[in-house]
Amino acid sequence: MNARAATEISAAATVGHFINGAEVSDTGRTLPVTNPATGAVTRQVAMASRATVEDAIAAAAAAFPEWRNTPPAKRARVMFRFKQLLEEHADEIVALLTNEHGKVLDDAMGEFQRGVEVVDYACGISELLKGEHSRNVGPNIDSWSEFQPLGVVAGITPFNFPAMVPMWMFPMAIACGNTFVLKPSEKDPSAPLYIARLFTEAGLPDGVYNVVNGDKEAVDTLLEDPRVQAVSFVGSTPIAEYIYATGTANGKRVQALGGAKNHAIVMPDADIDNAVSALMGAAYGSCGERCMAISVAVCVGDETADTVVSKLSNELQNLKVGNGTDTSNHMGPLITKAHHDNVRAYVDLGIEEGADLVVDGRTLTVDGHEDGFFLGGCLFDNVKPGMRIYNEEIFGPVLCIVRADSQEQAMQLINEHEYGNGTCIFTRDGEAARYFADNIQVGMVGINVPLPVPVAIHSFGGWKRSLFGDLFAYGPDSVRFYTRRKTITQRWPKGGVREKAQFTFPSNQ
Ligand code: NAD
Repeated sequence: MNARAATEISAAATVGHFINGAEVSDTGRTLPVTNPATGAVTRQVAMASRATVEDAIAAAAAAFPEWRNTPPAKRARVMFRFKQLLEEHADEIVALLTNEHGKVLDDAMGEFQRGVEVVDYACGISELLKGEHSRNVGPNIDSWSEFQPLGVVAGITPFNFPAMVPMWMFPMAIACGNTFVLKPSEKDPSAPLYIARLFTEAGLPDGVYNVVNGDKEAVDTLLEDPRVQAVSFVGSTPIAEYIYATGTANGKRVQALGGAKNHAIVMPDADIDNAVSALMGAAYGSCGERCMAISVAVCVGDETADTVVSKLSNELQNLKVGNGTDTSNHMGPLITKAHHDNVRAYVDLGIEEGADLVVDGRTLTVDGHEDGFFLGGCLFDNVKPGMRIYNEEIFGPVLCIVRADSQEQAMQLINEHEYGNGTCIFTRDGEAARYFADNIQVGMVGINVPLPVPVAIHSFGGWKRSLFGDLFAYGPDSVRFYTRRKTITQRWPKGGVREKAQFTFPSNQ
């Protein structure tokens, strides 16, 4: 794509869809897209009707037979060109992310690069799709397993990683030989559309990758259409549960990644200064709008808690909040006015519930951005299980300190929490760390690593109500999710020799 085309997307009055290799406008409903740093409506996004989504599914279904039979090495060649184009256009994509999501440019670049790493992984698809072969499973009988694509696959993604989370899904699904329909978040739709155009420019045949913008009507069409074989979802837990129930009831394979309440344990022997730095980044980076954000720090012992609270309070005085276009800022705004008000209401609630608000971000103003959706970093101490600010996902710059007497008690809190996405322990004690990793009921575990987001060669997913389904996103699990195993058993009888019918069950006896 040339710079002019990129500017056209970013300046388009209405963000449409991308179907069968071309941008498609829609005459139906639209929703406003807002720059959260200024509060200004920058463009509209089309809400696909059932008929528009069906067009996208039809395009994907028509493209499947040829793409399925395209050799994996040729599919990989398209991936290589796609990766190259992504890297060439990184700055434009990252600018769109900051404009519509609000995160600081450097943070947006981090998300983007993590997405590109999955494209990297998809470039190795020939190796990843290699089957399993056994010679002589019986007399002169050979057997092998191969992994065949499913058909049309759909992805439904959240607002908080508009580039990375779609790239958790479609590169691997498409590399495996499927065709894809993405329904990105309606809150920041421009980057996914831009990326779709780059993929076509890389040589992807029309119809293999389609993007429809929309809301529940579009999602329900994807969940109900019998041509869609599988659905990958990432978003909040109530919607994940709905997607899993509806998709599986309609006979589809579904993985639905949900919300989180990620706890970090700070042990008394931890390197406290480094733990505090790690907590600052993990709690307040991206304004706390990460599914792996640390939103609870469980401090073992009052002395540890007092030190952590005092150091975090000092650090929060220096937290720079402002427009994400200024890379000296640590944190941008929240995504929408409604979400801002919701997070703020949680802070009010925490006070009512009896937690101690040690740092109050509600008073923050950002000069020149009075209409932006900014909230300063908030810190609660003496938070207790049972309080809603502890039990529920807030998804904002609010860190809760919980005090525990022992590692065992801290781990019990985590294990009893309904979510199980990510967690971390800060300690210098290998035995404590190993015990933690072994026994904690959470899908992604960090040891002195606050955001243990697996790299692309591993797979990403939570436990408990953070994931509905069996397989994680990207990495080796994605090959299993986006393919169906077929096992073939073969024998070539000698010509001219009549064999007797065998009525016993075939075995090697
Ligand atoms: P969301 O659940 O509101 O929306 C996710 C997607 O579902 C969007 O595309 C949206 O349009 C669609 N959707 C929303 N309501 C729907 C409905 N009633 N019926 C059908 N579709 C609907 O999530 P969000 O606010 O965009 O994103 C934030 C949430 O995502 C947080 O809970 C966060 O923890 C979670 N998240 C989880 C992970 C993970 O890997 N577990 C990663 C990123 C974000």
